[in-house]
Amino acid sequence: MTLVQHRELLSLTNQQLSEILEDLGQPAYRLRQLLDGLYRQRWTSLDQFTTLPKSLRDNLLEAGYSVGLPAIEKRFLSSDGTVRYLFQFSDGQSVETVWMPEGDGGEAGDGSDSGDEELAELPQELSSRGRAATEGSAFFDHDSLATSRTRATICVSSQVGCAVDCKFCMTALLGLHRNLAPGEIIGQVLAVLNDQHVDIDRDRINLVFMGQGEPFLNYDNFMQAVRMLVSEAGIPGSRMTVSTSGIVPRISDFGAEEIRTKLAVSLNASNEALRTEVTAAIYYLTLPQQEQEAIAYDLKFVYPDAGAGMARQLVKQEQRHLRNEAGLRAAQAARAARDQRELDTNRREPV
Ligand code: SF4
Repeated sequence: MTLVQHRELLSLTNQQLSEILEDLGQPAYRLRQLLDGLYRQRWTSLDQFTTLPKSLRDNLLEAGYSVGLPAIEKRFLSSDGTVRYLFQFSDGQSVETVWMPEGDGGEAGDGSDSGDEELAELPQELSSRGRAATEGSAFFDHDSLATSRTRATICVSSQVGCAVDCKFCMTALLGLHRNLAPGEIIGQVLAVLNDQHVDIDRDRINLVFMGQGEPFLNYDNFMQAVRMLVSEAGIPGSRMTVSTSGIVPRISDFGAEEIRTKLAVSLNASNEALRTEVTAAIYYLTLPQQEQEAIAYDLKFVYPDAGAGMARQLVKQEQRHLRNEAGLRAAQAARAARDQRELDTNRREPV
């Protein structure tokens, strides 16, 4: 059985949800009903899951489970219809998510906008009407969205703050506070879809993972969110783009994934020397783990240009690693001492 760590249902895989339902004595078909409520109806509280028996909802609530959608703390509205959301999570940490009605869906392989790819698939008449609608106004009539929402895009955050110390980025000044859980990544998308009255079967929505944080430094949670958004929320991977600052080991892992988004690598500069200057930390982060650990011992000597924010993060990472190592060694020593005591006691006991 998989260890369930989260009580927020959006952070759980189908396997984990199914185990919870099984533990509560529910038939297998309840999983589909629960997933439908979470991802297709986008219900925000367990009380709304009227497709489930009340006793089951009560059991889930009593066990501490919740849907896990973040709260909208603030909305900042621009004249072009862009809405910047400040979302707050249960521990008080917050991130920004951006709704762009006219899109920034990343690039297709040939450099054109990914929204264009989608438009090309539409019949000519719908395609031109779609363009006219998206070019015309900031807010749309929700009844005529079948043709207008061909390029709307949500820019999603993957971490609170960021450890990659890009010199031009405001988020870098925060340092890394924490990784987002899968449900906190998914929750930003679902909450924006709710707020913008998006019908996922009718409207074409793009996702770009280009908000706060480096998605490839929160790889497992990011990938779990992508899988659930594709399989349960119904947003195809071909309409998602992840941007990385260039975390090479994770790029290799990403290439082997069955479900993938499009990939964009932020070069941030036109030549290697300038790139090293503005994104020095990336070179460190692309090294194998062992080399990173060795380097972190003496940042000043090996990595003189690392920014203060990055240095702080690396030192913290190293301290955490040493604490874990020390904890592990102490636990091993305690276990060995206990085994020895038991051995000695057994030897002394008369047969
Ligand atoms: S990786 Fe992205 S979020 Fe992180 S510091 Fe660089 S630009 Fe900012």
